[in-house]
Amino acid sequence: ALTIGIVGLPNVGKSTLFNALTKNQVLAANYPFATIEPNVGVVNLPDPRLKTLAEIFKSERLLPATVSFVDIAGIVRGASEGEGLGNQFLANIREADAIAQVVRGFADDDVVHVDGEVNPAGDMETINAELQLADLQTLEKAIPRYEKEVKGKKTDPAVLTAAVAAKDALDSGTLLSASGLDLEPIRELGLLTSKPFIFVFNVDEGVLTDDVRKAELAALVAPAQAVFLDAKIESELIELDDDDAAEMLAATGQEESGLDQLARIGFDTLGLQTYLTAGPKEARAWTIGKGWKAPQAAGVIHTDFEKGFIKAEVISFEDLVECGSVLEARSRGKARLEGKDYVMKDGDVVEFRFNT
Ligand code: GDP
Repeated sequence: ALTIGIVGLPNVGKSTLFNALTKNQVLAANYPFATIEPNVGVVNLPDPRLKTLAEIFKSERLLPATVSFVDIAGIVRGASEGEGLGNQFLANIREADAIAQVVRGFADDDVVHVDGEVNPAGDMETINAELQLADLQTLEKAIPRYEKEVKGKKTDPAVLTAAVAAKDALDSGTLLSASGLDLEPIRELGLLTSKPFIFVFNVDEGVLTDDVRKAELAALVAPAQAVFLDAKIESELIELDDDDAAEMLAATGQEESGLDQLARIGFDTLGLQTYLTAGPKEARAWTIGKGWKAPQAAGVIHTDFEKGFIKAEVISFEDLVECGSVLEARSRGKARLEGKDYVMKDGDVVEFRFNT
């Protein structure tokens, strides 16, 4: 499954956020190195379309798509040198498909900041520098190995070329994601700064409605996406039922909880989309990549669906809602029979025809 690794300096609110993500109530401890075990939290991708589908099909239950998060220890200055709990934990994010960097924006004299002051831009520089150093170390180890393998004709020279180019980019201070290099040949290295990033600003409640401040912070990380939340509010929100949560969101001037935002933006950053299926049993969202064709999408439900694929009956969610039923959509010509070259769109409501 695709996962997003959560990183950040100690005491920025990672544990608080992660506890909210997993709906666990593990006490977030107020000292550096509190988070030591990597953990996985799976959250639902909010999708109001499922409720509508369930009404149309009288479905018993809703099954939204999910996004997985891996919680990783705080990175301290010197992490790449093996100081603190560094390297071992950096190893855990190599597996992640994207990285969510939590940045402290809240002021609270009771919570120690590792560098003495709240400074989002400085914190991001510290983290980026550590991730760059970690990537440099990975490449410095890999390049001599690739050189030998290329001489022995065991490895494609393109691998070595990509590794050397990546090292040069890092040496000149560039994050690999911004380098424009083709890193596909060295994908196995799991280079950290080549992954897509999301920035999660953990801010005081007042900032949630301060568009000027939010724009300033978002500008620091553009073109990466920024999510603004108050981890403390998030941990309270998950304790409430839907109505009370909606009331609390409204009271804090938010339209959507931070966790919902994070799931949505995370999903998008991973380059994912969903298609929908529905029947009396369930209304369900299935996760696929952007640009996937119908048989590959069918394979997410079952490999037999992909192997025996014949056709897909596709109705766009909007058309289905307008028509009110599949029968009506068919009679109005809104149900399309698509073949194996059909490129799936987000929100397609699908029924696959296949040979067994
Ligand atoms: P981690 O080290 O990054 O995992 O940080 P924690 O989640 O353990 O948080 C460190 C401390 O900051 C804890 O005492 C939290 O209660 C507190 N904290 C976390 N988020 C917020 C927040 O949004 N506002 C305030 N005031 N305190 C927070």
